[in-house]
Amino acid sequence: MATATIQLEDKVTDFISKPRKMLINGQWVESASGKTFPTYNPATGEVLARVAEGDREDIDRAVKAARTAFEVGPWSRLTASERGRLIWKLADLIEQHLEEFAELETLDNGKPLKVARAADVPLAVDLFRYMAGWATKIEGNTIPISVPYTPGAKYLAYTLREPVGVVGQIIPWNFPLLMAAWKLGPALATGCTVVLKPAEQTPLSCLLLGELRHVKKKTDGVVNIVPGYGETAGAALAAHPDVDKVAFTGSTEVGKLILQAAAGNLKKVSLELGGKSPNVVFGDVDLDKAIAGSASAIFFNHGQCCCAGSRLYVEKEIFDKVVEGVSAKAEKIRVGPGLESSTDMGPLVSQEQLTRVCNYLESGFSEGAKAVVGGSRQGDKGYFVKPTVLVNTSEKMKVVQEEIFGPVVTAIPFKDPSELVAQANDTVYGLAAGIWTRDIQKAHRIASQLRAGTVWINCYNIFDAALPFGGYKQSGWGREMGHDALEMYTEVKAVCAAL
Ligand code: ADP
Repeated sequence: MATATIQLEDKVTDFISKPRKMLINGQWVESASGKTFPTYNPATGEVLARVAEGDREDIDRAVKAARTAFEVGPWSRLTASERGRLIWKLADLIEQHLEEFAELETLDNGKPLKVARAADVPLAVDLFRYMAGWATKIEGNTIPISVPYTPGAKYLAYTLREPVGVVGQIIPWNFPLLMAAWKLGPALATGCTVVLKPAEQTPLSCLLLGELRHVKKKTDGVVNIVPGYGETAGAALAAHPDVDKVAFTGSTEVGKLILQAAAGNLKKVSLELGGKSPNVVFGDVDLDKAIAGSASAIFFNHGQCCCAGSRLYVEKEIFDKVVEGVSAKAEKIRVGPGLESSTDMGPLVSQEQLTRVCNYLESGFSEGAKAVVGGSRQGDKGYFVKPTVLVNTSEKMKVVQEEIFGPVVTAIPFKDPSELVAQANDTVYGLAAGIWTRDIQKAHRIASQLRAGTVWINCYNIFDAALPFGGYKQSGWGREMGHDALEMYTEVKAVCAAL
């Protein structure tokens, strides 16, 4: 297939040519230390841009700005309708700049431009539109109360849902703009103010988002964006005594650190963490659909999805056919730079991820796993890994138990559907699962038995702003998207008046 390198928009070339600052109280400022850090192009390993490096002092300034915007306004004095319209306008602006966002995402994260254009940016736009609608629908209840120790007395009792306050949001690098949208959407809809820390690997699209502030005076200090490293800026945000809630998406390991850091002032915590999701294919399936779906369950976004279908369980009678089919799909995936028009899969995000995924492959091979396809790095420049299907694995191997976060699936046959559920649930995680079968009774029965926050039946990786997403077990606390997300950003106040 012919391939061509996509030419960057002038605005994008210009954006990355200058060191980017951080956004505090509506101003683009240098870091207090004056330090910057590099962000790399994962297709080449070369420095892409330099970005102000936030640390404790910058986080402190940003939290103060967010506190003032929350307590004093004008943000906190806007009507719900005005807030909703501002969020909707933000969605319009992102849409108008779709190409710039998509190109920055490809440059910084590595994903194919066609994916960033079709998925990352439109999903972010849709999320903001969905949350814009919620701004006017955050309601409490009136509650009939009986109060046995005040016989005869009458009361009017009701609840209010109020914004939780200043929120620290720490996001990962796999969908940089979209993860910012998942976090900012409900925070803004509920009237909170935010200090957002993008991942150090991919800060650029969040910084472009910061440029889109409209009606500036009303929104100064409402969203502050402080790029920097996790151990410094991230840790300072999670521990900050004047932050009311921290919302984190990332690894389970760091999620536990966030929790400890949050204990100081008992701030609210929501966590969207890792996964090792089972994708189960029964013998009665439409083979072509199940094969295509199972391949995309693991290979979408290079396997860098917390919900990736990384454990493929296949009923024994069709195991060979499914492995053959998924491997054939893997072989056809064109791995290359995200800016090449023919690329289906880009590089992993960083040298660290490349090393991590390759170490997992080595560990699998040393324990007896075999690669039907892939199994190694591709080339020696950039962070490319070949899409890989592993067989001959056993339940206790690291490649079956731990999150690899790369394009690596372990295919495992099962004989007895009654044992399947226990096997699929045999993980510390519980983020997502897939079921492929034509038997709807079986599909819904198994869906009810799987301990996972999302179950896809005859599909995979279907996301919508209205559909809650989050984990059971060590995959997290709380839900993103849907109206469930709003609960994580509101406090309930009970008001009781004697009549
Ligand atoms: P990954 O291992 O996939 O890079 P992480 O969980 O390390 O994922 O990172 C997700 C986000 O958490 C990033 O924004 C990162 O900077 C941040 N982070 C990492 N370590 C910490 C920490 N100790 N405290 C707060 N945030 C952190």
